[in-house]
Amino acid sequence: MKKIQLKHVRIVGSISPILGIFLILLGCWLKIVWLIYVAIFVMLAAIIFLAVFNRCPHCGRFLGHAGGAAFCPHCGDKLDE
Ligand SMILES: [Zn+2]
Repeated sequence: MKKIQLKHVRIVGSISPILGIFLILLGCWLKIVWLIYVAIFVMLAAIIFLAVFNRCPHCGRFLGHAGGAAFCPHCGDKLDE
């Protein structure tokens, strides 16, 4: 499996919830029900994506909310190469 850079994971992690909320609002506003389903799917996919890829490149442990930190809270190694 190709390794995804942590900065790309962070970009997806910050854009996906905004995109999801935007699609829900748009779906409610335009009364397009399938748009809301798409939005929920986008957010679920983002959660799974983060759960899989938001990990320390050194020790491989899940970073969670520390994903924006410069150092891993588990092994203390630098997260940005
Ligand atoms: Zn680590």
